[in-house]
Amino acid sequence: MSTETTSKANGQLNGFTNEAIGDDHLFTSLDTPMKANAFDMSNEEKKKRISILFSEIMDVMGLDLTDDSLQGTPDRVAKMYIEEIFSGLDPKNKPKMALFENKYQYNQMLVEKNITFYSNCEHHFVPIIGKAHIAYKSSGKVIGLSKLNRIVQYYAKRPQVQERLTNQIANELKTVLETEDVAVIIDAKHLCVSSRGVQDDTSTTVTTYYGGEFNNASKILELQNYLNN
Ligand SMILES: [Zn+2]
Repeated sequence: MSTETTSKANGQLNGFTNEAIGDDHLFTSLDTPMKANAFDMSNEEKKKRISILFSEIMDVMGLDLTDDSLQGTPDRVAKMYIEEIFSGLDPKNKPKMALFENKYQYNQMLVEKNITFYSNCEHHFVPIIGKAHIAYKSSGKVIGLSKLNRIVQYYAKRPQVQERLTNQIANELKTVLETEDVAVIIDAKHLCVSSRGVQDDTSTTVTTYYGGEFNNASKILELQNYLNN
C-alpha cells in the first residue's frame, strides 16, 4: 500500500531505512498502529505467549534460565507488559470520565502542571520519562483534576513517540471537555538517546499542542509564565 505521503519499498519508508526511522524517531500515524485483531487473544493468553517468547530472547543471548535469579523473569516481563507499562493499548483500561457542571462559572484557564509519566519509545522499547503540562478553558463542563493525570498515564502506557502522545492526550481532552481550547506541553527524556545511540545525557524533547484560544501568542506566553513559576 502506498499513499502520497508514505511509500514503503525494500524495507524503507519515504526513502529512510528502518535504522534511520528508529534513531530519528520518525512515525507514520497519530493513531497507535494496531492490528484489527489486536484483542482476539485474552490477556492471560498474551502473557503466556510473551513469557515463552521472552525466554527465547534470553536464551538466544546465552542467559541461563535455570538460574534462580532469571527463572521468573519471562513471566515478570509478560505481566509487566500487559498489566502495567503497555496497559494503555487496551481500550478497556481507558479512564472513565465524569463531567461536572462548571458551577463556579470559572472561565479562565486551568493549568495542571508537572504530571510525571513513564512511557516507552516504540522504536527501541526503552523508557521515555517526562512531565506533561495540561491546560484547558471550560466550555461549561469540568472534569476532576485526577482525570487529567489519568488521561496522561493511559496514553503513556503504550509504545509511543512523543509527538503522538501529545496529540492523543490533546484529542482526548477535546472530546471529553467538548472544547477546542486545550493545550498540552510535554518535556521528556528519551533513554534511547541518552543511554545508547548518540548518548546525549542532557537533552530533553519538548512537544506542544495549542488548540482553540490557546493558539495565540499572548495565551501561550501566559501559560508559559505559569509553567516557569
Ligand atoms: Zn527510541
